[in-house]
Amino acid sequence: MARTLPAATGFLAAVQHGGGRAPEADFAAAGSRAALRARPGGLTLDAVLLHSGAPDAAHAHARGRTAVLAGELYNQDELLTLLPGRSRPVTDADLLLALFDTYDVHAFRLLNGRFAALVAGEGRAVLATDHAGSVPLYVSAVPGTVLAATEAKALRTAPVGRRIAAARRVRRLPGTHQVPAGTVLDLEVATAGCTDHRTWAPSPARRIMPEQDAVEAVRCALDRAVRARTGPDTPLVVLSGGIDSSSVAALAAGHRSGPIDTVSMGTDLADEFPQARVVAEHLGSAHREITVHTDDLLRRLPHAVWAAESLDPDIIEYLLPLTALYLGLDGPGRRILTGYGADIPLGGMHREDRLPALDTALAHDMATFDGLNEMTPVLSGIAGHWSTHPFWDREVLDLLVSLESGLKRRHGQDKWVLRAAMTDLLPHETVTRPKLGVHEGSGTTSSFSRLLADAGVPADRVHHAKELVVQQLFDRVVVDGRHPDEVAAAEVVQLVADGPARDAPLLRR
Ligand code: ATP
Ligand code: MG
Repeated sequence: MARTLPAATGFLAAVQHGGGRAPEADFAAAGSRAALRARPGGLTLDAVLLHSGAPDAAHAHARGRTAVLAGELYNQDELLTLLPGRSRPVTDADLLLALFDTYDVHAFRLLNGRFAALVAGEGRAVLATDHAGSVPLYVSAVPGTVLAATEAKALRTAPVGRRIAAARRVRRLPGTHQVPAGTVLDLEVATAGCTDHRTWAPSPARRIMPEQDAVEAVRCALDRAVRARTGPDTPLVVLSGGIDSSSVAALAAGHRSGPIDTVSMGTDLADEFPQARVVAEHLGSAHREITVHTDDLLRRLPHAVWAAESLDPDIIEYLLPLTALYLGLDGPGRRILTGYGADIPLGGMHREDRLPALDTALAHDMATFDGLNEMTPVLSGIAGHWSTHPFWDREVLDLLVSLESGLKRRHGQDKWVLRAAMTDLLPHETVTRPKLGVHEGSGTTSSFSRLLADAGVPADRVHHAKELVVQQLFDRVVVDGRHPDEVAAAEVVQLVADGPARDAPLLRR
């Protein structure tokens, strides 16, 4: 039976020579846990899988290898053409293992998905992220033992691992590294030696296309990405009424005979409810509004850092309202589609007409997104849901990044090619609506700034103070492993506000 959520949404795994056990699993993401023990080719694999009912579909075993997959693939049909004789239904883990037999680590160059994966066997532990690193993956390795997990906090008690030059170190977790986006780390378990392979990189070149061709290509690619993510049950779209989420909602509605579900969040300070309602009414969706009081929103700061394990205060500001929204959804785990991330390849945050600056911003954003974890499924995972972002589908992203910037900023409009692609599916006022960031539309930036100002932080120090608050929260909920319900954001804010004057070390990175 087709399932709403991926077979597994996270894992902690230990690949070892000889026996041993995985550390106690510590995840922010909710879900049932299943233990997995396998002996791929002389190694021992001990894993804990986070799942929603069918953990066996998240691992595969054949010819002395075991594959473990958290997340899902979106180009199974294409992949199956590479494997004559195989037909659906096969699990994504089966598919990965079969491709690995033929292509070894280069199998990961073929995948369009949202996943973190481990393949163990032949003395090796192979770890891989999707093209965007959208499911974070962490590793800690010493000779004889490779530990890997989809959350850094799950490795916080691991023995101090060897330095892995190809991976990013994690703040205050010595020996723990994050596997970069679009990367395979091929670790020899006996020595903890590592070879890395890049499986994806954003195109630095720009394509020239006639207007109409570009518009049709965007519509077609996005439609396919939405369909691949829609799942067997009614999808839920987190809808702001901005062009990005409205596009996803409109395309998702097109793939269903009945109404889709949509939900908008707002605070007592700000909301986009009227704009979202216009779209919901146009599409006939079953629409909900969730209002979160600003005090409650700010109380979720530790939860946002706990889920995203990000140290970037701007990212945490984008993710905080969504964290509050996901935690405000009741009921069973849902498949959630968002319009998140469209602005990066389309330069949507860029509010001026000059094309060189747009391309500069875009190249910078595409070079620096990795490690920010803004697409992490753990954000909705803390409330038991699975979120997925069609704009960061590999094919959509490749297309959007590569379009020449005059197709993105055109006729005085930002994200022109997307707006043109959606003209017939959405109300005119939605298609032409200027961009408003989730952190702006919910008043998150201003309320977080106010919190710091009220604690005595001078106006010109507010951004830096936010960075320190996020670091302090990270130390508590990731490094120290505390539950975010036990961490008072207000106390951390006061500590930072008092710190720069009193406690110089707080200012050091
Ligand atoms: P635009 O960028 O044109 O404003 P958008 O609002 O859809 O379009 P973002 O502002 O970048 O996109 O927000 C990112 C995503 O977060 C949205 O696509 C949407 O899925 C979700 N989101 C943003 N604001 C809200 C909100 N108030 N309620 C529900 N979901 C939201
Ligand atoms: Mg918006």
